[in-house]
Amino acid sequence: MDEVDKLYQEVILDHYKNPRNFGVIENPTHSAIGRNPLCGDHVALYLIIENDIIKDVKFKGLGCAISQASASIMTSILKNRNLSEVRQLFEKFHSLLTSDAPTNGVTDLGKLEVFAGVKEFPTRVKCATLAWHTLINALENNKEFIEKG
Ligand code: ZN
Repeated sequence: MDEVDKLYQEVILDHYKNPRNFGVIENPTHSAIGRNPLCGDHVALYLIIENDIIKDVKFKGLGCAISQASASIMTSILKNRNLSEVRQLFEKFHSLLTSDAPTNGVTDLGKLEVFAGVKEFPTRVKCATLAWHTLINALENNKEFIEKG
C-alpha cells in the first residue's frame, strides 16, 4: 500500500469517492468497455457525439482509486470539446505519464496533472490511462479495450 499511498492526492481520492458523470447513457452514439487485468480495473464509457463535439459522457467502473479517479476526471473535462482537441489531450496526458522529458512543457493539462506522480510507478500507468484508451477505442467504434501486460 505504501507506493499507492504516495499517489493518493486529495483530488484523486475525491474523484474516487465521489465520481463525476457516473452512470449509463441509454442511447450513446459511441461506447466502449476497457479492462486492465493486471489490476482488475474496469471502465465502461458512454458518449453522445454530434458534429465531432462531445455533448455528453458518462462512465461506470470498478477498480483501484487511480483508474476510477482518472475516468471521473477525464469525463469532467471532455464535455463540449471537439475530437481533435480530445486526441491532443490524450497524447499530452500519455506523455506526462510515460516520457522522461520534463513535464513543464505540459502545463495546460489542468486537473490531469494530479496524475504526474504515477510515472514513478510503471504498473500504475495502465490504471491511469485505462479510461483514455477506452475513450479512443469508443471514438474508433471498437467496443472493447484490454490492457496487455
Ligand atoms: Zn488499477
